[in-house]
Amino acid sequence: MTLDCDVAIVGSGFAGSLLARVLAVQGYDVMLLERGTHPRFAIGESTTPLANLSLERLAKRYGLRDCYRLAAHGRWLAHHPELRRGLKRGFTYYRHHPGEPFADRGLDSERLLVAASPDDAIADVHWMRSDVDQHFVREAIAEGVDYRDRVEVTQAGFDEGGATLRGVRLGEPIEIRARFVVDASGPSGFLARQLAIPSGLERTRTRAGLVFSHFAGVRTMRELLPSLPAGPYPDDWAAVHHIIDEGWMYSLRFDDGVTSAGFLLTPRGVSSLGDAASGGADRLWAAMLERYPTIGAAFADATPTMPIAWLPRIQHRLTRAAGPRWVLLPHAYAFVDPLFSTGIAWGLRAVERLALAFEDAASGDRKPDAATLARYDAALSEEGDQIDLVVAGAYEALAHFDLFAAQAMLYFTSVSFAEVSQRLGAADDVSWKGFLGVSDPVLGPLARESFERLRGITRQRGAPGSAGERAEFVDWLGRAIAPRNVAGLADPERHNLYPVDFDVLMERHALLGMTREQLLERLPALRGLGPEPMFAEPAARARRDVASRPARGDFGPLQECAPDTNLPEWSTLKLR
Ligand SMILES: Cc1cc2nc3c(=O)[nH]c(=O)nc-3n(C[C@H](O)[C@H](O)[C@H](O)COP(=O)(O)OP(=O)(O)OC[C@H]3O[C@@H](n4cnc5c(N)ncnc54)[C@H](O)[C@@H]3O)c2cc1C
Repeated sequence: MTLDCDVAIVGSGFAGSLLARVLAVQGYDVMLLERGTHPRFAIGESTTPLANLSLERLAKRYGLRDCYRLAAHGRWLAHHPELRRGLKRGFTYYRHHPGEPFADRGLDSERLLVAASPDDAIADVHWMRSDVDQHFVREAIAEGVDYRDRVEVTQAGFDEGGATLRGVRLGEPIEIRARFVVDASGPSGFLARQLAIPSGLERTRTRAGLVFSHFAGVRTMRELLPSLPAGPYPDDWAAVHHIIDEGWMYSLRFDDGVTSAGFLLTPRGVSSLGDAASGGADRLWAAMLERYPTIGAAFADATPTMPIAWLPRIQHRLTRAAGPRWVLLPHAYAFVDPLFSTGIAWGLRAVERLALAFEDAASGDRKPDAATLARYDAALSEEGDQIDLVVAGAYEALAHFDLFAAQAMLYFTSVSFAEVSQRLGAADDVSWKGFLGVSDPVLGPLARESFERLRGITRQRGAPGSAGERAEFVDWLGRAIAPRNVAGLADPERHNLYPVDFDVLMERHALLGMTREQLLERLPALRGLGPEPMFAEPAARARRDVASRPARGDFGPLQECAPDTNLPEWSTLKLR
């Protein structure tokens, strides 16, 4: 069987499915090939304002109403309660020390909260990926994408006219002829193997292993530490990060009570665990809970809803992201670490860039031109380096909470400045802007400088440095980010508790190149106020004849969302 298409996309995570769907909207003939079946477990669940802005832009440009609705927790609940998700109001951090319960020292606790949204309705969302990815595949099929699951592609050959993919589906050989191939296969690196793309891992600095699962019955930090002073939002309805000597732990709570959790452990951290490190995932997990009593108390009665797993290294990186007839999505090209939740936002940004590139090519070659592919390749390379530097700096800063809280300000300044600029700016030129401060003359170079300064303080062996060295770093970072600090970050008077503060933003209007009046006029856009946009059918939309093309997929039912979903009582949101 030989099948012809304009674009073959290998891998149906959210990124592959969304790109497939957008290209189908543009009139391309798209095949989406998946090795497994949906629904399936996937890791990488926590969205950010930049990810949701990308979703909204894709929604508006290509008429994808569901993407707009899934870009804020309130809209999600109102329109897609059947897709499981969790409320994420911000980023919460606690510093724990081995053998000691978390110390509640009031406002002087080793605790950092940075709000990402002013209220629940427009808050970010943790995605239950099994539901969300399946939803996006269904929508891609509805748009006319030819989806085939259980396809094992074993060969890819490229020539002047396009690519030939060969493989097997359910024991039958399958051959696909495509003008262009997108590798959306994530870390399994389909094209990296086929094209023997060399690894670029040695140019990166972050290294960590991961022990993780999903759990039922996890207690909240608020239950365990009831007298901690209130923060800008309830601590647990966030991406919760537990900073520990050996690395850090994420804990993401879904509205139905399931928690996604994992420890990221540095090589030094793993070796400090002795026998526990070689005793399998369950033993490693238990050892971590035993070492950190407050985390242990949170998970004391928790039960894994799937086996606990251990990945000795999660980083990967390649040296090329594009060629004449192929391109890699970010997760196929590089992965650094979930610290700062960059993965989904970066993946969606790439979907936007490629969607625009295919728009430009629609009436010509029907594939992105060489200059655009080179630009894409260069962008991913620089951005991969930048993410690595910011995260590697944060790993150095694990040595002392003051250093960590300061380094986190570098990330939050980059993303809050980008968010405000994007909400205020024209949509079209946004997607090619550098991710995480890349190409910004102020923020761009800071990641490297900060990383080098931190390495000087920690002597590259986890030393906490002297009080003077730490104070100097905190002071330097505060001054260095000042030209982009529209969110009032790095302010000692906040005691590490940062709400979304529109008054500070108004005061700092000049940093955005705007007058106070201009900014005031645009404030509703920043607050996410206003009616749902109109989703007119785009003129260019050329829906395939879906009825005559039955989906070749194996779909289990979506999980029904329990009506008594455990949204906290303070929540302003209600299930429909
Ligand atoms: C521990 C961890 C935590 C993370 N947490 C976050 C987070 O909180 N926030 C965030 O933004 N990001 C996070 N990420 C990153 C996030 O997981 C990725 O950015 C995201 O999954 C990328 O999605 P994708 O659609 O590109 O690829 P994937 O989700 O990796 O999907 C790839 C798909 O391709 C299929 N496939 C693979 N090989 C083949 C083949 N040969 N043929 C056909 N199909 C194939 C797979 O079955 C899969 O369906 C995390 C990552 C890790 C490792």
